[in-house]
Amino acid sequence: MAMNVKPVPTLDDRINEIRLATAEIINREILPNEGKLWVGLSDSANQPNEAREEAKELRRHVQNEVRKAGLWAPHLPEEFGGMGLTFLQHAYMNEVLSYSPGASSLFGVVAPNSGNQKILVKYGTPEQHEKWLKPLVDGTMQSGFSMTEPHNPGSDPRALTTRAVLEGDEWVINGHKWFTSNGHAADFYIVMCRTADPDAPGEGNDKMTQIIVPKDTPGVNIVRGVPVWGRPSSHCEIIYDNVRVPKENQLGRTGTGHQAAQDRLGAGRVYHCMNSIGSMWRAFDLMIERLTTREVHGGEKLEDKQFMQGFIAESYMDIQSARLMTIHCAEKMESGADPRTDISAIKIYVPAAYHRVVDRAIQVWGAAGVSGDLPLAGMYQGARTLRLADGPDEVHKILIAKLILRRYHSGETWDFGN
Ligand SMILES: Cc1cc2nc3c(=O)[nH]c(=O)nc-3n(C[C@H](O)[C@H](O)[C@H](O)COP(=O)(O)OP(=O)(O)OC[C@H]3O[C@@H](n4cnc5c(N)ncnc54)[C@H](O)[C@@H]3O)c2cc1C
Repeated sequence: MAMNVKPVPTLDDRINEIRLATAEIINREILPNEGKLWVGLSDSANQPNEAREEAKELRRHVQNEVRKAGLWAPHLPEEFGGMGLTFLQHAYMNEVLSYSPGASSLFGVVAPNSGNQKILVKYGTPEQHEKWLKPLVDGTMQSGFSMTEPHNPGSDPRALTTRAVLEGDEWVINGHKWFTSNGHAADFYIVMCRTADPDAPGEGNDKMTQIIVPKDTPGVNIVRGVPVWGRPSSHCEIIYDNVRVPKENQLGRTGTGHQAAQDRLGAGRVYHCMNSIGSMWRAFDLMIERLTTREVHGGEKLEDKQFMQGFIAESYMDIQSARLMTIHCAEKMESGADPRTDISAIKIYVPAAYHRVVDRAIQVWGAAGVSGDLPLAGMYQGARTLRLADGPDEVHKILIAKLILRRYHSGETWDFGN
């Protein structure tokens, strides 16, 4: 089933062009080849060589088509080889390119490289752009983002204990991290380090600095890829043991690490939510496909059963509400209004809606729903994981309540129109 994307009358021409051109590539190049494109990447190396070579060739072909269509690297400015999109243009593109799982990598957007690229664009010096950003964009280097620690709550970034101390012209780093995604393939990590003690003078948020650490630096010990959902993974546990890197590897001023992490997450959460909406859209189409073709007791189609009709209505409402909340948040961000309440709200609501929509699609497909023949099982795990990553739900709920109560305590009430 192809993705049905038509121009949206309320959107400007450029956003409509981008959405249509993206859908064209998804429908023409990616959906018909989904079964072949990822051979050798996500499954075992036991796949025949021919199939792996064919997959590589297919991916190269699609990437060329994407470049020809001017859709490469939507997250980067033109001077760094990207599309130079505005925030809203990028957000609207994501809901289309995420219709097919993994497709974003064929458009030059691969986490955590994409987030690291954005941090390097904003905080990097011209020398750092040359040495780290350009190879990352060209694809000759890979990277990881190393913040979360096994012994401290990731939901409270002020609790991180990985320490960097300046000795002469070098940072000396000691600490223990885990869930550094892409850790095996990465050539360098951006490591979140404490550069001032918790009780030192100054704001709690000004005591962290992000530092670039090449993987081959002595003292960088990859303990393991932490298994995720019962499978080996490249989310790595890493011990940094007296790791020495030049002072110029720090990103931005000393103490701006927390702010840089916030920059990464704020807009990133809107993009992730638009990605989830694209995935829900796909799950919805797959669910309807099965409902309208599968015959059950007495020769009736599943679509004739009221339980199943309930699934359609509930999934429709989940997708629409998640999408409109996310667009409202994105518009607020674009207009310069304070989006924090809405960012937290979508961070909670959208993965939960995604989870419900995929869960229903799996139910409708029966055993096939949890099989590797359909993208639903992977989506289900992705949706569940999203409730933890980028800040767990509970922390965002606390923030929403705090921001709303602050408004009421200051004598104002909430204006839901703005
Ligand atoms: C697949 C995957 C990929 C990841 N990739 C990366 C990566 O590339 N780089 C990186 O640095 N990290 C990464 N992470 C880590 C992720 O960012 C953290 O897991 C997340 O920030 C939560 O931190 P934590 O696991 O330490 O949970 P904790 O902070 O220990 O929280 C555990 C639970 O406690 C509850 N909780 C926490 N605080 C409160 C509170 N104040 N009130 C009430 N309840 C609360 C919540 O239910 C929460 O889920 C990844 C995680 C996953 C699963």
